[in-house]
Amino acid sequence: MSNLLPSPESEECRSLPGERATLEALPARSVHLGSLEVHRLLPVRSRRLIGPWCFFDRFGPLTFAESKPMDVAPHPHIGLQTLSWLFSGEVVHHDSLDNECLVRPGHLSLMTAGRGIAHTEETPSAHTGLLDGVQFWVALPDAHRHQAPHYQCVPDLTRLEPPGGLITPFLGALSGAESPGLAFSPAIGVDLTVHPGARLSMPLRADFEYGLFLAHGDASVFGQPLAVNCLYYLGTHRGELEVGSASGCRLLLLGGEPFPEKILMWWNFVARSAVEIASARDAWQAQQGFGHVRAYRGPRLEAPIWAGISPRQD
Ligand code: MN
Repeated sequence: MSNLLPSPESEECRSLPGERATLEALPARSVHLGSLEVHRLLPVRSRRLIGPWCFFDRFGPLTFAESKPMDVAPHPHIGLQTLSWLFSGEVVHHDSLDNECLVRPGHLSLMTAGRGIAHTEETPSAHTGLLDGVQFWVALPDAHRHQAPHYQCVPDLTRLEPPGGLITPFLGALSGAESPGLAFSPAIGVDLTVHPGARLSMPLRADFEYGLFLAHGDASVFGQPLAVNCLYYLGTHRGELEVGSASGCRLLLLGGEPFPEKILMWWNFVARSAVEIASARDAWQAQQGFGHVRAYRGPRLEAPIWAGISPRQD
C-alpha cells in the first residue's frame, strides 16, 4: 500500500532571500524514517531553502544494543546531492553504482544524484551502539542536474584551528581549507567546535544567506542563546559570525547564495515540473533508470502516490 503525499505542485520551493541580517528561529518538527525518529529542520513552511540547501534532518543522539536504528531500504534520488555527517556512530552507504562506504564521524559522504541513483543507509552489524548525525540535501542547479551520478566518501577533511575552537568545512571553502566535496553552487557547510569558556569567530560573506544549528552544548550568537534542535536563519549582509560558549559546543553552519531557481521537491526527487516528478516516480516503480543496490538484503521502498495521478499498476 503506497503512502499518499501532496501533489508536486504544492511542494514548490523558492528561496526567500533575506534582504538583511536577521535571527529567525526555525524549530524542528518530528518525522519518522522507518522506526527512527528524526528532527526535520528543512524544509519548513516558512523557509524551504538556505542557499542551495533544501533538506536537513538531525537523527539521534541515541544509544542502542540489538536494534538497527538506521535501515533505509533502496530508494531513488534525482536533481540533488545527499550529504551525511556524523557526530558519533556509523552508517554504511551502498548505492546502485556499487559504491560502499562505512561512514564515521568526520567522514564526508556526498552523493551527487544528477539524473538518477538509488542508495541505502544502514547501521552496520559491527557498531558502537551510538547514532548521532545529520543528513542534508543540496539542490543541483539546472545546468548540472542531468549529469551522471557520482559518489564521494572522504575520510579526512582539512580542519582549521583558530583561537577558541575548530572549523571543518565539509562543503565549500573557508580561509584556505577546502572540502573535496563537489559543489555546483556558491555554498558552504561547516562543522564548528567551540571550546569551553571560549569565543570563536569566522568570516561570513555578505552575499550569502546562512543557517546555524546547535547540535551539542550551549552557544550564544549576537547576544542570544541558541536552543538545540532549532535552525537559526541569519539572513544576508553579515561579515562575521562570533559564537561564545560556557561549557563548549558543536554547531553546523550552512550558507550559500540565495538559490536563483524555483524547484519542486517531492519524495526523494528535486525537479522543476510535476511531469518530471511523475516520470521519475514511474521509472522507479518500473525498475528502470536508477539501477539496483545489490548489496542490500531486503525489499526496496515503494514510491508514494499523490491524489490525481494514475500511477502505473505494478
Ligand atoms: Mn536517500
